[in-house]
Amino acid sequence: MSLVEHCRARVADIRAAERFRRRRVIGGAHGPEVVADDQRCINFCSNDYLGLAAHPALAERMARAAARVGTGSAASQLVTGHNAEHAALEAELADWVGRERALLFATGYAANVGVVSALTGKDDHIVADALNHASLIDGARLSGAAKHVYAHGDATAAGQRLADCAGGHRLLLTDSVFSMDGDTAPLAALADLAAHHDAWLAVDDAHGLGVFGPEGAGRVAEAGLDSARVPILLATLGKSVGAAGAFVAGDHDVIEAILQTARSLIFSTAPPPAVAAAAREGVAMARAGDDRRVRLMALIARFRAGAAQLGLPLGDSDSPIQPLIVGDEARALALSDALLERGYLVGAIRPPTVAPGTSRLRVTLTAGHSRDQVDGLLDALARAVDDIRCVSA
Ligand SMILES: *Cc1c(COP(=O)(O)O)cnc(C)c1O
Repeated sequence: MSLVEHCRARVADIRAAERFRRRRVIGGAHGPEVVADDQRCINFCSNDYLGLAAHPALAERMARAAARVGTGSAASQLVTGHNAEHAALEAELADWVGRERALLFATGYAANVGVVSALTGKDDHIVADALNHASLIDGARLSGAAKHVYAHGDATAAGQRLADCAGGHRLLLTDSVFSMDGDTAPLAALADLAAHHDAWLAVDDAHGLGVFGPEGAGRVAEAGLDSARVPILLATLGKSVGAAGAFVAGDHDVIEAILQTARSLIFSTAPPPAVAAAAREGVAMARAGDDRRVRLMALIARFRAGAAQLGLPLGDSDSPIQPLIVGDEARALALSDALLERGYLVGAIRPPTVAPGTSRLRVTLTAGHSRDQVDGLLDALARAVDDIRCVSA
């Protein structure tokens, strides 16, 4: 079979399974209101929780940095790619999350793959939540360590897996806020388990940073877990911080070992310094952003109360990620389409991103949304659910 035939067949299979996905072209800023494929709509599927991705202060800071230092870093960090903007950002990130040191990566995917594979090898054990982000799963694969998956959010099961590990190091690996369910890992219980079983706990706080905790320092900070309890703290800069990139934070020696060995950092060009400058502005605004967090929490409460009134089954989430579990893939798609017709962009999340039979609409709220927009979404949801019910009956 030729390559083209092979690829055609693969895509045909994806279409037949109703899992074909298409990118929309966003014509302009990625704020609460977007133009998607030339249609103006309200965006309820971005991870821009504090409404900073299209904020002029970040854009200005980025433009000024670019005018000063140019666009490219021109080399990997360990060669000559590490700019003063990166160094300052790392220091500010470490200060924010209360760790000795932070180390920047180009993306969260690169950070997770790099950190997990740098810290564990084939004689080690990784104990992981069943719903961890794909980048943690891929990092575990790349490490060659034995992998033990426990039922989502189940600390007792995690303890059993840890007790079963013989020899080597044990890395306990979890998201803080889960990206498709919006619920939170039992972080304090996992930290206790890690201490009891002599395991290292790594937490990916991608959806917690900026949203929870004092000064938005994240779900780990909110739970009061310091570097003795969570020695490996990961988070990203492309969500609440409104820029791009990611970091790992921890004790000096842990970070130094990752810097010396993480292949996704060593063999990759450092991100543009101007992006780091934008992230610095985003970090400062996120830290000082209690007003944004208050607005965001009020919108989350408003959406949940409205959905409950309509009898819509939301997942158990106190975060900006609010999943409306639909079950059937085609029904989730139909709902998403019906919402778009009414001007609301809400992603239908289907397998393989989530387990078969748990397809959902993933509504994400941001501080940039207005109460009217949330009310409008609830109204459109009520109508769309009615329509779909009529069609499928
Ligand atoms: C988004 C996300 C990542 C990946 O980060 P990118 O910067 O988008 O590559 C990693 N972990 C979690 C939990 C995420 O939600």
